[in-house]
Amino acid sequence: MSNKAVIVFSGGQDSTTCLIHALTHYDEIHCITFDYGQRHRAEIEVAQQLAKELGVTVHKTMDVSLLNELAISSLTRDNIPVPTINSSGESLPSTFVPGRNILFLTLASIYAYQVQARTVITGVCETDFSGYPDCRDDFVKALNKALELGMDYQLTLDTPLMWLNKAETWALADYHQRLEFIRDQTLTCYNGIKGNGCSNCDACNLRAKGLNEYLNNKDRVTHSLKAKLNLN
Ligand code: ZN
Repeated sequence: MSNKAVIVFSGGQDSTTCLIHALTHYDEIHCITFDYGQRHRAEIEVAQQLAKELGVTVHKTMDVSLLNELAISSLTRDNIPVPTINSSGESLPSTFVPGRNILFLTLASIYAYQVQARTVITGVCETDFSGYPDCRDDFVKALNKALELGMDYQLTLDTPLMWLNKAETWALADYHQRLEFIRDQTLTCYNGIKGNGCSNCDACNLRAKGLNEYLNNKDRVTHSLKAKLNLN
């Protein structure tokens, strides 16, 4: 059996960095992009183009539009504003889509079962987005256990970015000599603008802050990245 992994792939900074990292570890990579009627259709095209350019084995776009019917969020409805830099409060942001990662990781794991892959990679991260409960380590570990029991199949949900901050995620891209590529080709912006984005939404703000921090402290950030991921 070849060394295979399945990646939940959105074409954003985090999942693309996971993909670049995984390309050095696996012979065969299957990317899955979920189409849940996100209001920025560009996301799907960006993901397709990136997967092609990076040379993955298979790129699959899966229709999960039923999520859009069930879960109302600013990522799926044009009339709900996306959060901007000063709007974050204590409650969950309007971009939260309840159950999204439960569904995505479950579907990706069913796919992994079909192609006999033992690893499902996801770019979720507890450090920067702890507001999303289904990005937390506790949740991922619990779901991993449930999936193994429910399918009677040994499987690892791998979360390489879980304990990295955004600056360290940039350092990981740079470690693989792909910093410019990630900066220019990925789409993270809540307003659907590729590359540096709208520079006004929460996602753009987080991304730009992390990049500045990395560029101003390359040695320190690279050092902590290597320690966390056990890199040479
Ligand atoms: Zn933006």
